[in-house]
Amino acid sequence: MSEDTFEFELPKVGIIRGVKPRDIEVIGDKIVNVRVRPNPYSNTYTMEQLETAADVAEKFGSGKVHISPRHNLEIPEIKNSMLTEALKQLFASGLQAGGTGTSVRNIFTCSDYCSNKVRSVRELGGMVSELFGDFPLPNKLDISFAACPSGCSRPYNVDIGIVGVAELEVDADRCIDDCKMCIEACPVEGAITLEGGLNIDSEKCVKCARCAGACSTGAIRVANTAFKVLVGGKEGRSVIFGEEYSGFAGGYEVIEIIDMVIKQYQKLAKEKYKKKYERVGEVIQRLGSLEAFMHN
Ligand code: SF4
Ligand code: SF4
Ligand code: SF4
Repeated sequence: MSEDTFEFELPKVGIIRGVKPRDIEVIGDKIVNVRVRPNPYSNTYTMEQLETAADVAEKFGSGKVHISPRHNLEIPEIKNSMLTEALKQLFASGLQAGGTGTSVRNIFTCSDYCSNKVRSVRELGGMVSELFGDFPLPNKLDISFAACPSGCSRPYNVDIGIVGVAELEVDADRCIDDCKMCIEACPVEGAITLEGGLNIDSEKCVKCARCAGACSTGAIRVANTAFKVLVGGKEGRSVIFGEEYSGFAGGYEVIEIIDMVIKQYQKLAKEKYKKKYERVGEVIQRLGSLEAFMHN
């Protein structure tokens, strides 16, 4: 898209004001930091987008680009008088301002290039970004997707965490019990035992499917994959771990749960201190349970 072919309106999110200069000298102007992400959603940036961000940082900022914890590109110290020009250039390369303020923050999905992936999260993350991205709320709301229980995108302590999990099928008759490749691949001590026949302890197993990937005889196979959904976690000065709302949800069920959490949060969040509103986990703590939050 050309920079000149659209009417430009300043975005409501993605611009951080009140920034103090650190690396540039500013006389008679204010500076802002600009946060962007790919639009439509992607968990990768194209080379053109990275080059544009670098170019904007060189021309209008301090020549630096910061990568935020939720994978936004943050271009610091852009002169306020050059903001529209900078945003137009970013927009033309498919970068949209966002990921700040009291809203649904940048959807964070882990890498699609990882061999540990149980179920891809990129496409679902994109749908969730389209449906709920930057939606205004009483406080910020983070949604993270991890394609396996290792949780590199930190789904366990965000407002809504989604984790790819596998349901296993075990056929003990196919097991050659001295190969032990499954035990070697398994990250959880004692989850698989072979003494007295192949057995997987469902209490210990985290459903990562690494054993199935290592088993060449078909004694352990993946029967199905889905998502575990956790609600009410948060990072920051006080950390809360999310509570499991669903252990094995399909893609559309995940979207329904996110929609429900957002609606309940809008309805139930109260101001707590200095005009700041509770986060999802704090509302759940006040109400006493996740069940009470979801069905209040
Ligand atoms: S969460 Fe799992 S699939 Fe995603 S990057 Fe980490 S190890 Fe790989
Ligand atoms: S990898 Fe498969 S065949 Fe080997 S011990 Fe484990 S279950 Fe049995
Ligand atoms: S899925 Fe397999 S490898 Fe993963 S924790 Fe369970 S038994 Fe271990």
